[in-house]
Amino acid sequence: MKFSDKVASITPSSTLAITAKAKELRAEGHDVIGLGAGEPDFNTPDYIIEASYRSMKEGHTKYTPAAGMPQLKSAIAKKLKEDQGLDYANDEIIVTCGAKHSLSSLFQTILEDGDEVIIPTPYWVSYPEQVKISGGVPVFVEGKESSQFKLTAEQLEKSITAKTKAVIINSPSNPTGVMYEKDELAALGEVCLKHNILIVSDEIYEKLIYGGKEHVSIAEISPELKNQTMIVNGVSKSHSMTGWRIGFTAGNKEIIKYMSNLASHTTSNPAAASQFGALAAYEEDDGSVENMRNAFEDRLNKVYQKLNDIPGFSCVKPQGAFYLFPNVKEAVNNSPYATTDEWVKALLEEEKVAVVPGSGFGAPDNIRLSYATSLEQFESALERIRRFTEKHS
Ligand code: PLP
Repeated sequence: MKFSDKVASITPSSTLAITAKAKELRAEGHDVIGLGAGEPDFNTPDYIIEASYRSMKEGHTKYTPAAGMPQLKSAIAKKLKEDQGLDYANDEIIVTCGAKHSLSSLFQTILEDGDEVIIPTPYWVSYPEQVKISGGVPVFVEGKESSQFKLTAEQLEKSITAKTKAVIINSPSNPTGVMYEKDELAALGEVCLKHNILIVSDEIYEKLIYGGKEHVSIAEISPELKNQTMIVNGVSKSHSMTGWRIGFTAGNKEIIKYMSNLASHTTSNPAAASQFGALAAYEEDDGSVENMRNAFEDRLNKVYQKLNDIPGFSCVKPQGAFYLFPNVKEAVNNSPYATTDEWVKALLEEEKVAVVPGSGFGAPDNIRLSYATSLEQFESALERIRRFTEKHS
């Protein structure tokens, strides 16, 4: 059978591949430490679970509007006003089945075959594949470690062509954890306005920021930039609700209308019970979001230096999310393994530690370690990694 070229061109998620291999080893009885997780290791706060349960008992078990329940859109609008100082009407918001679905339907809506989307590296694994599925062409611009992996206005300007439709900004970033400063966003925004490039601002890690820093959305900088930006966010990481599949997009009314039409023929709507859970998440606050943030910050502070001290490792200090993304080129060069991918495979086989190779993020000299796991597990993983590098140097 001849398959769709678009779908056949997709590579499976590297994050999921390593997790599957780790599971296999665990099933064979090995003591595997998995640092591949892309989700908080806490359960969803009780008040959210209870609100969702109540909604089902009250009979809210049916279809909802394709773009999400009006009361949830209003709660999201209130959140955007309180946190970002931005006004959005309900018809400028769509509730989706997770931020991933927000992004994929956004690309499907705005891209025509051959349109280019600028993706700074290192990037979240799904961006290029989502762009390709939509007929678009990912254009990678290298985020240099010397500029903390951040795209600069000069680099952006140079990579724009007549076909450029959009640029993705992910702050804080998966996989690097770095954040853009307001002046850096303003400079990028100026270039986007000049060339009429749509900004896709993925703010899914907005609530996981450390060191007293504050999140800035590029849409906050000026009314012009608000009009030029589609904000993508959701409850997955902030409220530890990855399995509930609720995200949203806020921005241009017409784009939102087309995304809603698309949803009406594809998903129908995000699960009603999940939407009620997300409604509680946004309307109430029992302190869990901040407690989880504190726990992540504490872990980061305890492990960052130890990781950086491993021979052959050097790591840009993250300011958000729950990942560390060290450059391990020297450690790999000192070892018998030819590539980081092979080194990662050997680490899993020999020391039973699962990390994600940076190749899937467009940064083949790096690896990603998630600290969405207990401190104890992370620290013993670091000991094993140190032993592995010492053995192979
Ligand atoms: N954007 C980034 C940068 C992510 O890391 C993730 C999840 O890993 C998502 C979007 C998707 O979030 P969701 O689970 O809400 O689909």
